[in-house]
Order: sequence, then C-alpha cells, then structure tokens
Amino acid sequence: MTVEPVSAFARIGEENAFAVLARANTLAAQGRDIINLGIGQPDFSTPGHIVEAAIKALRDGHHGYTAATGIQPLREGVAADLDRRFGVSVNPDNVLIVPGGKVTMFMAILMFGEPGGEIMYPDPGFPIYRSMIEFTGATPIPVPIREENGFAFSADETLALITPKTRLIIINSPANPTGGVTPKAEVDKLVAGLAKHPHVAIMSDEIYDQMLYDGEKHVCLLSYPEIRDRTILLNGWSKTYAMTGWRMGYSVWPSNLLDAARKLAVNSYSCVNAPAQWAGLAALTGPQDAVAMMGAEFDRRRKAVVAGLNALPGVSCITPKGAFYAFPNVSQTGWKAKPLASALLEDAGVATIGGPDFGVFGEGYIRLSYANSLENIEKALQRMGDFLNRKNAARA
Ligand code: PLP
Repeated sequence: MTVEPVSAFARIGEENAFAVLARANTLAAQGRDIINLGIGQPDFSTPGHIVEAAIKALRDGHHGYTAATGIQPLREGVAADLDRRFGVSVNPDNVLIVPGGKVTMFMAILMFGEPGGEIMYPDPGFPIYRSMIEFTGATPIPVPIREENGFAFSADETLALITPKTRLIIINSPANPTGGVTPKAEVDKLVAGLAKHPHVAIMSDEIYDQMLYDGEKHVCLLSYPEIRDRTILLNGWSKTYAMTGWRMGYSVWPSNLLDAARKLAVNSYSCVNAPAQWAGLAALTGPQDAVAMMGAEFDRRRKAVVAGLNALPGVSCITPKGAFYAFPNVSQTGWKAKPLASALLEDAGVATIGGPDFGVFGEGYIRLSYANSLENIEKALQRMGDFLNRKNAARA
C-alpha cells in the first residue's frame, strides 16, 4: 500500500528547463559534447565583493534566524534601490525578503487562487505561473503574447480577458521566454484599463528589469499610483547579480497583504539564509560595474544569436529587447517545436527548450538562452544549421 498526496498534486506542474538540464548533463556524462542554451541563468560568477560580504557575515556571527521579513538594512536597501532606479517611494515595511524570485509568485498565487476564481498569466510565459494557478484550483486564463507585437503585452487583448471572476493578473516584462519588453505606452494603456477593475490584484514580475537593450528603459509597475494599493512587485538578485544559487529575491506588497505573505514565510522557510541577505545588501549598495559588464556581454551575444538564427533554414527571429533569451519562430522548418528541441539535443548536442513548455501559444517557437559564451553560441548555431540542412537534404 502506498500513500498519495492530496489531489491538487495531480495538477501541479514544473519547469521543463530543469529536465532538459538533467538530460544535457546525462549526455555530457556519457562523453557527448553538449552546448547548453537551455537553462536561464547567467554564466558569470557572482561578483567578488558580494561573495566577500557573505563570508564576512559568516565570520561576524550571522548564523541565526533573522526576522521572517528579512534583515532591516536589506529591506531599507531594497527601498532605496527602487527609489534610486525608478523614483518610486517604497516603505521598507512593505518589503519582504524571500528565498528566490519564485517564492513571490508562489505566495501571490496561493493568496488569490481558489476554485471559481480566474488568474491571468502570460502565455508563453514562465511555466510556474500556470502550474501554481492549477494547483490552487483557480482557472488559468492565458494572455496570448504574440510575435507580431514584439512579444509585448497587448493592453486591449489583456483587458478584454478580465471578468468579474478575475482575482489576479500576472505581468512580466522583460519577459521569459521571449525576451519581449512591453513599451511604456502599452503599459500606460494597460494600467489605465486596470484602474477600472479594482477587484483585480496585479503581480508584476520584474526579475529581468536590469537586462534591457537598445536604450530601452524599464517601467516599474509601482510607479503607477492608481493601482499601487493592489500591485505586488516580484524581483530579486538571481539574474541581475548572477546569484541564482543563492536563492535571494524580494517582493513589495501592499500593506494589507504583507501580513499574509509574512505568515506564509513563517509557516514554511522561517527566513532567508542570513549571510545571503548580507550579500544581497552588498549587491545593492556596492559597485554596479559588474551589472553593466554582464549587460554589455549579453548584448553582444544577443546580436550574434539573432543574426545566426535568421541565417538558419526555415528559422526567423525578432530581436529581443530584454532578458537573455531569443525565441525564434521555427514553424517553417517542418518540425513541431518540442520534437525539434529534443532532436537538437540528442542529435546535434544543443540544448534548447521547446516553446510549448511555456504554454500553448509557444508552439512554433523554441527558446534559446544566450547565457553562454559567444564561442559556444556560434558553435551551437553552426550545429543547428548543419542539423537542419542534413534533415532537409534527407527529406528532399
Ligand atoms: N520570474 C521569471 C520570469 C523567471 O524567468 C525566473 C527564473 O527563471 C524567476 C521569476 C525566478 O527566479 P529565481 O531563480 O530568483 O527564483
């Protein structure tokens, strides 16, 4: 006799990027030469002064629990950082330090998801949104994110999906998996529409807010007073400071929701790793040149990836304006996206993720993360071209 978890676990999903990573590692362990463009994490090390701050915190005796909401200097540091970058005024009391950006979406979706309610989320989008919505029993309402809009949100299309049952809408710009950035004019329009639906909470996932190209400026949703009292900001250190393994994120909550979030913290992880929090403070208050360096390097690779993809038979790729992903259209290759991603890994040794892993509107696309060296990216593109040409020749 076995024991089973409650039925909600039949509905919870996961991130296929981790399965692809495991498969890529297995193939590599068998001696295959694999180039991993699958996983979404910077290939840089965390800047040295941040690492040193964690070591110092350990030596200084920061070994115990901290407040569940996070250490006060860090909550103040987050507020100061948001003020410095966007001119938004945030009370440090509304900041919650969480173990990774993901935790904010987990909390927000748990808070607003229940059977009979609807939660809107971008599709293609980060797969955990839908997974957690399904887990709560709420109805997932995908907001189509379209190539013809540059993978930006369309305010009109989004607003048309709101119903009296909508409890939460999830916005993400710059976006995973598309690299799409929603222009300010469209955000303005979206916010003006949302202002007319005061029953809807908003979670803005801005984890890629410092990864913008071509002079784009990030629009922080906290800068709109008309929706401020129901907007939850998701952000963190993982991408900006190459800290994915540290598990450091933060959220800004409206005052009336903070206590529910704090209780979820107390009921699960208690507090974030203390030395990691001191490292997070060093990241925000120390020199930002590593962020600029990484951004410049991502930009170089972005251009190489887009040019290389557009030269492949049957592939076209718009230029992403943010994050570190390209989302080429592969519908003219004669392949469905997931079998193509799988064949590229098994046959050509290039790990990518099939678009449908990010939602039904991801069919016809694959995601490439360009968080890899330019040399590897060029090699991967060469292999992809050889693969497609070989298959096309075999078909002819
Ligand atoms: N939000 C988006 C859009 C992401 O792409 C990711 C990570 O890939 C996260 C949140 C989660 O970040 P973290 O690793 O800090 O949990």
